[in-house]
Amino acid sequence: MDGGGNEAHREIRDEIQKLCLRFPGEYWRKLDRGRLYPTEFVAALSEAGWLSALIPEEFGGSGLPLSAAAVILEEIQRNGCNGAAAHAQMYIMGTLLRHGSDEQKRAYLPRIASGELRLQAFGVTEPESGTDTTSIKTFARRDGDHFIVTGQKVWTSRAEHSDLMLLLTRTTPRDQAAKRTDGLSVFLVDMTVSLGHGMSIKPIRTMMNHSTTEVFFDELKVPVQNLIGEEGKGFRYILSGMNAERILIGAECIGDAKWFIDRAIAYAKERIVFGRPIGQNQGVQFPIAKAYADLRAAELMVASAAQLFDSAKDCGAEANMAKLLAADAAWEAANVCVQTHGGFGFAEDFDIERKFRETRLYQVAPISTNLILAYLAEHVLGLPRSY
Ligand SMILES: Cc1cc2nc3c(=O)[nH]c(=O)nc-3n(C[C@H](O)[C@H](O)[C@H](O)COP(=O)(O)OP(=O)(O)OC[C@H]3O[C@@H](n4cnc5c(N)ncnc54)[C@H](O)[C@@H]3O)c2cc1C
Repeated sequence: MDGGGNEAHREIRDEIQKLCLRFPGEYWRKLDRGRLYPTEFVAALSEAGWLSALIPEEFGGSGLPLSAAAVILEEIQRNGCNGAAAHAQMYIMGTLLRHGSDEQKRAYLPRIASGELRLQAFGVTEPESGTDTTSIKTFARRDGDHFIVTGQKVWTSRAEHSDLMLLLTRTTPRDQAAKRTDGLSVFLVDMTVSLGHGMSIKPIRTMMNHSTTEVFFDELKVPVQNLIGEEGKGFRYILSGMNAERILIGAECIGDAKWFIDRAIAYAKERIVFGRPIGQNQGVQFPIAKAYADLRAAELMVASAAQLFDSAKDCGAEANMAKLLAADAAWEAANVCVQTHGGFGFAEDFDIERKFRETRLYQVAPISTNLILAYLAEHVLGLPRSY
């Protein structure tokens, strides 16, 4: 498929493609069957410096703009690999970079950039407060030089493969905070010393291979110096990273959509039924053409959001729309790809059913489609808040 108008950062695309060739379908299929973590793939990305793309050069990263990071993740997906194993490092790090103290940045960022420390776990969602983040119950109580954390997170992905966790807790109960968004704090938790000492992890088996878990906190001691920014302001810090997260996930969805459409086109050309390629039938080619048009539109929105982000302009609406449209485009392309392949769309060896399961997530996480629509209705269109 012609990459269309947005094939910026050609050299990054070529390098990522080369790296991904070392991790073909069989590699991912084997991991998928055993629900295993792609350790070698993540190590290869770290060694090549791709996961530290957004870390400033002074801290050992390459200081690239978000639009370049988006291309890295897009290209990983486009080449049939799965960036979900490591993507969080790119956007979680922003909270530390923007709101951490100089001491924290110097202590952690160079080691994250070198791959020595993995910052892959992001503990926000809880069993009783999904989308309603300000209702979280995990509590950090100050006790001298420490905070004592008690509570539970759910869907904390990659927790078993991370050294650090960015953790959101309440430090003031919601009913005692001036506003519901006040009284939340963010910690950088050293998981290597916490496991077995107040922190435990239980894997959740899901329909795709995503290394997600439940994390339990039972009087976990976190040193005061691991508090990021000011106590009680954590919700704002997390929100400030969400635009980057949405743009990067949107870019991954664009990569998925391209992969599915490429596969659908190739098969539609080669599969002969009734003596002609199935792609000669409009009933087969039109859905692929429609998925392509929708992909291209979503791609423009992702690029526009990334450009606004890189120029430090307000991009809340565009980042949300980028994630919404790209997740929808990837899902539509996934469906079309399965349909084009007929029975073979369901065969493990074609990788389509695996990518189909993987891409479905993005209409739900990290933010569900409904909540994006609610954001647009309220904040862009000025309609009454619905929740
Ligand atoms: C595989 C996976 C990995 C994840 N990884 C992480 C992670 O690393 N860290 C982390 O913190 N979280 C993670 N999550 C959690 C994810 O962010 C949440 O699942 C997501 O935000 C939705 O929250 P929920 O599941 O609690 O759904 P709920 O909030 O319970 O919502 C359920 C449904 O109701 C809809 N809904 C709820 N309220 C409204 C409303 N007011 N108007 C309209 N519709 C509404 C939602 O759109 C959704 O479709 C992950 C989830 C999954 C499945």
